[in-house]
Amino acid sequence: MPLHINTPLIESAPLSAIAGCSIWLKMDALQPPGSFKIRGVGHACEEYHRRGARRLVSSSGGNAGLAAAYAGRRLDLAVTVVVPESTTARAIELLRAERAEVVVHGASWQEANALAQSLVGSDDAFIHPFDDPLLWTGHASLVDEVLDAGLTPDAIVLSVGGGGLLSGVVEGLRRRGVPGIPLIAVETSGAASLHRALEAGEPVELNAIDSIATSLGAKRICTQAMECATGHPLHRALVSDLQAVQACERFLDDHRVLVEPACGASLALAYQPSPQLQAYDKVLIVVCGGATATLAQLGEWRAKLFAMSLG
Ligand SMILES: *Cc1c(COP(=O)(O)O)cnc(C)c1O
Repeated sequence: MPLHINTPLIESAPLSAIAGCSIWLKMDALQPPGSFKIRGVGHACEEYHRRGARRLVSSSGGNAGLAAAYAGRRLDLAVTVVVPESTTARAIELLRAERAEVVVHGASWQEANALAQSLVGSDDAFIHPFDDPLLWTGHASLVDEVLDAGLTPDAIVLSVGGGGLLSGVVEGLRRRGVPGIPLIAVETSGAASLHRALEAGEPVELNAIDSIATSLGAKRICTQAMECATGHPLHRALVSDLQAVQACERFLDDHRVLVEPACGASLALAYQPSPQLQAYDKVLIVVCGGATATLAQLGEWRAKLFAMSLG
């Protein structure tokens, strides 16, 4: 039995009115661990469990780690998550609440990841946050649910970090025989790894991530995402951190669900009259969610970013 749930698919009256086309929301913020990640991570963990893994190891202090911790608890597997010192107290608290062993190590994710890799023994499975074919196949279930619910969108808006979600959605569209539905891939300007890769013609490594949308903070997209971005109709959009945070706050008012700026980035496209969206009748936004933000944190970010925008 899959570890993710079939999430609600709703037409958004407030977003449709602003965007100027019919906006549909796939509410993956309502997955038990708070984001779409459980689709892919859950599928991968079940498969590694079948192959005999006894422990899951992750180096994500974000939603991939949370999904692994949730999957481990459900499958009765031990879970170890190595996170860098920069990880928020909130994220560590959520991981521990899922009974994961949390090891705090290193100034950056690179160091935490190196330790995590060194811990992976023969009975363990390493859970990558975006670069694993099992993950993409799991993420593809989102497309199945939308099509099975009777909605064939004219375009799909999604946020891109390392490109696992993008790879999964393209896999689902191809498998279901609708490879022509265009994607609109959204990033924040400070985490634009897909944008830069498409400009360069190959995945390139960003020098640094400069965005509060930490869940989009992969310095380099995976090769599969590059293949999907060039082999599938795709448009891209960049939004500012301030736009992403403001979209989170408006979405909370409009739909009573709190999401991370990583998800707010996609919502921000529809929270403005958008020529990019008005080219279509029915636009699906993947409300990818994210569990690590709080209402207080959104307010702090907005105040700081707003002050910065005034110079
Ligand atoms: C992981 C994540 C993303 C980005 O997904 P990728 O597969 O890395 O592109 C976007 N939003 C949220 C909330 C996430 O957790």
